Amino acid sequence: MRGMKRRLPRRKIIVLLSLPLMIGLLWSLKSPLAPDKLLYSARQMFDDESAKPAPIFGSAPFVIVLDAGHGGHDPGADGASGQYEKDFTQAITQKVYQLLLKESAFIPYMTRTEHTSIELEDRAAFANSQRADAFLSIHGNTFPEEPTVSGTEIYYYKPDSVAFAQTLQRAVVKASGFKDRGIKKEEWRVLRLSEVPAALLEVGFLTNAREESYLLGEKGQNTIAQGIVAGLRNYLDIR
Ligand SMILES: [Zn+2]
Repeated sequence: MRGMKRRLPRRKIIVLLSLPLMIGLLWSLKSPLAPDKLLYSARQMFDDESAKPAPIFGSAPFVIVLDAGHGGHDPGADGASGQYEKDFTQAITQKVYQLLLKESAFIPYMTRTEHTSIELEDRAAFANSQRADAFLSIHGNTFPEEPTVSGTEIYYYKPDSVAFAQTLQRAVVKASGFKDRGIKKEEWRVLRLSEVPAALLEVGFLTNAREESYLLGEKGQNTIAQGIVAGLRNYLDIR
């Protein structure tokens, strides 16, 4: 064995050992800025579960299913002024729907157009049956114990919904100027049962008197509706 060692000169050993390193270096120089790699790492930083290829969209028009939270015998939460969440969600969802109708890139649907009761299962099933490109459930948040709590937050459940939730959150916060409470994973039934990219948006806190008056006002609702449409456009890459 000692004899074999002597037959390999030291320089040759160094060259042999550094060969894989050099190949690795050349390989990394060849494609250091591959866009898919950048996207992967940026998303991985945000949430490990989102570490999967970006969704590949078909072409416009895109089917959007809007879900006004609660309704009928389910009033949702009570706001600071005593108004029901179901009325707020109905009003703002209608505004988003009307804006989407004006754009040829969208085919919008609403899970309820009136003050009716609809099961959570049926809301998700409707989005699935329409093969929606995006399913958005719209709500108003509450925290009666502490009326100063404020801000926008959004929920997703499945990994394929992270990009949608993230893009929408950014656009709504930008439009409203509300505090950004971030995106959160939660097993809400309407999200768990959805087979399409789905998010549940808590636009703001109805139990915060200042935020509630913005959310119930015509101007505030129009601004947020425009923010939601901007988020949908960004998510679906519509110019
Ligand atoms: Zn709600």
